[in-house]
Amino acid sequence: MAWKILVVDDDQPTLDLMRVILRGQGHDISTAMLGTAALEAVARNKPELVLLDLMMPDMDGLEVCRRLRANPATADLRIVMLTAKAHPADRAEGWRVGADEYITKPVDPVDLVARIKAVMQRPRPEMSSASLLTEMAHAAMLALGAALVWTLAIDEDGRSLRSAAIASIVGEGMTRMFLRALKGGVGEVSFPMARQISPLTDVAIGGNALLEKPLAEVRQLAGGDVLARGLDLVGTRWVSVTPLALRGKVQGVMLVARQGDAPLSTTELRLMEVFAGQLALATENNRLLQRLERQEHEAQREKSFHQTLVNTMGDGLVILDRALRITYVNRRFCRMMGYEDAELMGRPFIEMIHDGDRGPADSWLTRVGGTSSFEKRLMRKNGSVLSALAVHVPTEQTGVGDVIVITDLTDQKSREATLMRRTRQLTAINSAGRTMAASLDIDSIPQTILEETVRVLGARAGSILLVDEKTGGLTFRAVAGPGAEKLVGVQVPVGHGVIGWVAQHGEAALVDDVRRDQRFYRGIDQTTGLTTTNVVAVPLLIKRQVIGVLELVNKLEGKFDADDLAVCETLAQWAAVAIENARLVRDLRAHTRRLEKAYDELKDADKLKDDLIQNVSHELRTPLTFILGYVELLLAGDLGPLSEGHLKALEIVRRKGQSLTKLVNDIMTLQWLQGGGLDKRPVLLNGLLAQTAQVGGIAAQNAGLKVSVDVPDHDVIMDIDEERIGQVLDNLLNNAIKFSPQGGEIVLCLRDLDDEVQIEVQDSGIGIPADKIDMVFDRFYQVDASLTRRFGGMGLGLAICREIMEVHGGKIWATSDAGQGSRFIFSLPKIAAPKPNNG
Ligand code: ADP
Repeated sequence: MAWKILVVDDDQPTLDLMRVILRGQGHDISTAMLGTAALEAVARNKPELVLLDLMMPDMDGLEVCRRLRANPATADLRIVMLTAKAHPADRAEGWRVGADEYITKPVDPVDLVARIKAVMQRPRPEMSSASLLTEMAHAAMLALGAALVWTLAIDEDGRSLRSAAIASIVGEGMTRMFLRALKGGVGEVSFPMARQISPLTDVAIGGNALLEKPLAEVRQLAGGDVLARGLDLVGTRWVSVTPLALRGKVQGVMLVARQGDAPLSTTELRLMEVFAGQLALATENNRLLQRLERQEHEAQREKSFHQTLVNTMGDGLVILDRALRITYVNRRFCRMMGYEDAELMGRPFIEMIHDGDRGPADSWLTRVGGTSSFEKRLMRKNGSVLSALAVHVPTEQTGVGDVIVITDLTDQKSREATLMRRTRQLTAINSAGRTMAASLDIDSIPQTILEETVRVLGARAGSILLVDEKTGGLTFRAVAGPGAEKLVGVQVPVGHGVIGWVAQHGEAALVDDVRRDQRFYRGIDQTTGLTTTNVVAVPLLIKRQVIGVLELVNKLEGKFDADDLAVCETLAQWAAVAIENARLVRDLRAHTRRLEKAYDELKDADKLKDDLIQNVSHELRTPLTFILGYVELLLAGDLGPLSEGHLKALEIVRRKGQSLTKLVNDIMTLQWLQGGGLDKRPVLLNGLLAQTAQVGGIAAQNAGLKVSVDVPDHDVIMDIDEERIGQVLDNLLNNAIKFSPQGGEIVLCLRDLDDEVQIEVQDSGIGIPADKIDMVFDRFYQVDASLTRRFGGMGLGLAICREIMEVHGGKIWATSDAGQGSRFIFSLPKIAAPKPNNG
C-alpha cells in the first residue's frame, strides 16, 4: 500500500532520514520545513498523511494540527505528531488538537513504519473528549507526583457531581476498588449537588479549594469519612480538592491524592492550578462535545427518518437548484421515469416534461409565489408518456430549492377512460333499448334493433336472423351494410357458419378473423360481396330458447373485443324481449280481431232475436185478446149452455191463455224498459203495499197462505213510477205465493231508513240455495225447471224487477236460508225525493 505523505520538520537531517525510510516503503513523499509552508503544501497537493514535528520556529505542530482540523477540507487528514518532548502533558495537548498518533524522537524506523501503517489502516477515531480528559488527569498525576487524580464534572442540569476521568498509579483494579468504596454500588459514581454530602460537593458548590490537607483532616469533614476510606486504599496522605472553574463558573472538581511525606510547594500548587484550569476547559469541551454529539445524533436520526419518508413515499420528489436543474430525486421518481438517479442529476427539469406541456419561458416552474399544482405529461426514459400531477413548492418556501412532488396519474387516467367508455356504452344501450321498447311492430322491430346495435358498436355490417317458427331454419329478417339487402329472406342452413353455430349452441361467438375459423360459411360473403373478417354473434334467447341470432361484422375501428361482446349481449337481450313482445302483440291482436268478429256476429244474432220476439209478442196479443174474450163469453154461458167437459176444457184454455198473456206482457215490459221513460209521481208507499196485499190476498187464500203488511205509522211517500214499482211488488208477492207450501205466511214490510226506503217480501217457502241466489235475477233463470210445470213461469219476473229498480236508481237483492223461506228486498234512494215532513 502506497500513500501520499507530507513530512514537516525544521531539521533537514530528520527530513532526509524520513524521506529515505518512507520512500523505501514505496510511499510518495513531499516535505516542508515550516508550519506555514506545511499548510500551503497541504492546500496545494493534499496528502493522505502528515508527519508533523511539534517544535518549529514560526508555527508549532500543535497549531498546524489545529488549523488542519479546523478546515473541513483537511479535517479528515491522518496526522502523526513527531516530537522530542515526552512529557504526558504534551501528549495530552497533541491529542487535544486532534493528532492520530504521537511518536517520540529518536525515531525507530521499524516502529515508525508500523505506526504509520496502523494509523492509515484504522478508521480515523473521532477525537474523544473523554479520553482527552483521562489523558490530562494522567498528565497531572505524573506532573504532581500524585497517586491518584480524579476529575468530577457537574451535570448539565447542575444537580449532581459525576465522575468524569480518573488516573492512578495503583493500577486499574485498585482504581475500581477506590470508586466502589465511594459509591457502595455499581454504575457511575455521582454525588447530589448539595452541601455536607462530601468534601467534593462542598468544594464544587463553594468554589473554595482544599489544598494539601492531611487525610485525617479530610476524614473530619462532612461526608469526609467515606472519601477517606476510599483514599486509604491508595495510600493517601495529602489531599487537594480544586474547583474546575471557567469564566467564574465551576464546572467540576479535581481531586489530587498524594502519598509523599510533605505537602506540595507553592510552585507545585501553581502547577496544580494550571492543570485545574486546563481540566476545566476540557470538562467544558467534553460537555459541549457531548451536547453536540447528542444533537448530531438527533439530527442524523431525523435526517434518516426524512430520507426513509422521501424514499418510501408514494409520490416522486424532485429538488431543483436556482437554474431549475435537478439536484435531488427520490427512488419513486426514478422508478416512475425509468432513470437511475445519477442520470438525472444536473439535468434541467424542463427536459422531463412533454413538449406540448412545457408552455412559454415564464412557465409555471419559474413562477414566483406560493405552491401551485399542474397536470403535466412527463417523458419517461423509454420515450413513453407519464400522466402526472406536479405540485411545485418554490425555493422561498422550502429553503432547499424548488421542490416538485409528482403523482402518477396513469391509474386514475385509465380508470377515467374506462369509466367514460362504459358511460358511452351504457348511454348507447339505453337509447337503443328505448327505441326497441318503443316499437311493437314485428315487421319493423328487427331492423330498428339492428340499426341501433350497428351504430352503438360501430360495425361495418350486421344482420338479425330469426328462427322460422315452422321449419326451425334461420332466416335473415333485418340487414345492414353494403350489399346486405340481397340477404333479406335468405335461409341459412342450420349449423352452417358462425351464425348457425351460435343458433345451434345458444352461445355467443367472438371471432377475430373469420377466414381462419372452421365455422366460416362462404355463402354469405359471396352474396353480399363484403369480405368478412371480424365477427361478433350472439343468440337471441327467450326462456333459454334460441329465437334468433344477432351478428355484427367488421368493426370500423379495431376489432370487436370482450367489451363489445358484453354490450352486444345486453342489446341482444333487449332485442329478444322486444321481438318476443312484438310477436305476442301480433298474436294478441289477431286473437282480438277474431273475438271482435265473433262478438259482432253474436250481437247481430241477438238483435235479430230481439226483433223477432218483439214482433212475435206484438202479433200474439191481438189473437190472444180474441181467444180469451171468446173463452170468457163461452164460460159465462153467453153463447149457450155447455157440458161439464166443455167447461173444464175451456177453464184450461183460459189459464194457459192468461199465462201466455203474462209472458207476452213480460217480454213487452222488458222491451219497453230498454228504451222507455218513467212516469214518476209522489206515491204513498204504505198504501201501495196494502193494495198489493189485498189484490194478491185472493190468490194467497186459494193457496192456503196468509198475507200481512208491516208498515211504519207515518206516511212514507216516494217519487216513483207507481205502475212499475207495483209490478215489482206483484212479481215478488206472486213468487212468494208460488214457492210457499200451504199454511205459510207472507209479510210485506216497509222500512223508512235514513237514506233510503226498503220494501221486503218475506215468505216461509222452499227458499233458494246460496249458490243460486244471485242468478235468480238473470233472464230465463229458474232454480228448478221442473217446478215450472207445476207453477208456470218463464224466469223473466225477477229480471224485470231488477231492471225496473235500476231505472229507479234503486237496488234489489235476496237472502234465503234453504228450506226456511226467502226474503226479497228492494231499496229506493231518498236523494231524488226529499223526505216529506210529517210533523
Ligand atoms: P218465474 O217466472 O220462473 O218465477 P222469476 O224470475 O220470477 O221467474 O223467478 C226465477 C226463479 O227464482 C224461479 O223459477 C224460482 O226458482 C226462484 N224464485 C223466485 N222467487 C222465489 C221465492 N220466493 N222462493 C223460492 N224461489 C224463488
